[in-house]
Amino acid sequence: MELLKQRILQDGKCYPGGILKVDSFINHQMDPNLMMELAREMVRIFGRRPINKIVTIEASGIAPAILTGYLMQLPVVFIKKKQPKTMDRMLSAVVHSFTKDRDYTVCISADFLTPADRVLFIDDFLANGNAAKGVIDLCAQAGAKIEAMAFLIEKAFQHGGDYLRSAGVDYTALATVTSLDDCKIELE
Ligand code: 5GP
Repeated sequence: MELLKQRILQDGKCYPGGILKVDSFINHQMDPNLMMELAREMVRIFGRRPINKIVTIEASGIAPAILTGYLMQLPVVFIKKKQPKTMDRMLSAVVHSFTKDRDYTVCISADFLTPADRVLFIDDFLANGNAAKGVIDLCAQAGAKIEAMAFLIEKAFQHGGDYLRSAGVDYTALATVTSLDDCKIELE
């Protein structure tokens, strides 16, 4: 998506270790106008698909997910990164964090992810696909079907895309970073 690509080139910053910092418009400060355009693009791509629920993972997936959910008039559930004592019927999965380089347990209530659900999963980045693997695990536990996954940004030099293709998961990224070598941002 051209608008997102231009914004990444204008305001994105490259960090050692293959990290793209988009703190000024996605991950910390957020640009609601850009976010709404990204959500409209999600609707353009997925609006006719048999999706009845949007699932995301806290925190940075929530903004694009809720705007997409609003436009598609669908419920939005976010997977939690801390396990509340009060959660009923908790489903959990272990995820390795790329940016923090540690494992953590994510959870969702089986009250909000059920065998009746056909899920569109939305997140900010696809890197090695660890968060996506956790979501696949949770949906399998719940008996929910993943209709598709959508990421704002895919880093194609990492292996999340390969994993999702081999697992037969239909996914889309609104912008694809092909290289961050020498701290230079290259997009597809
Ligand atoms: P994965 O689970 O696909 O390995 O990594 C995706 C998750 O790690 C995303 O939810 C995102 O929060 C974080 N992440 C991965 N790579 C980057 C990056 O280059 N920049 C930022 N800001 N977050 C990233």
